[in-house]
Amino acid sequence: MTGPGEFKPATVVAIVERDGGRCALCGRSLSLRAQTRGWEWSVHHREDRGAGGVKRARKGREQPRAYLALAANGVLLCGSGTAGCHGEVTRNEVPARLGFRVPRIGIRRPVDVPLKHYVHGWVLLDNNGGWTPVEEPDAEEIAA
Ligand SMILES: [Zn+2]
Repeated sequence: MTGPGEFKPATVVAIVERDGGRCALCGRSLSLRAQTRGWEWSVHHREDRGAGGVKRARKGREQPRAYLALAANGVLLCGSGTAGCHGEVTRNEVPARLGFRVPRIGIRRPVDVPLKHYVHGWVLLDNNGGWTPVEEPDAEEIAA
């Protein structure tokens, strides 16, 4: 069982493969077989699930935010929600322009927001575990 917005095991596998088994921010190679050995790793939600998460959708009004559990919303990072790069991203210590966090109140969803990926460079992630290279966004695009 996975809760609302949680990545399914198959999605985690797709994300880990897409990210080359490395932290998408610092590039550290992660020991993926055992989280207790080597560097700890976790899959970060770019758009966070928030309180209530996908359950809040109202019938006929808002679509459930099912995309929160899809590949474009996940990146492999070293550490946990409090340590390593995952901790830095969670604490907002990583520049917003790098695309590791997608604001819930914005009009753009994770598939629309360019990410500076350590392995792949500037990309748009898709929900099938793929990516498309893009130009580095300029400051005006990021502010929009
Ligand atoms: Zn890292």
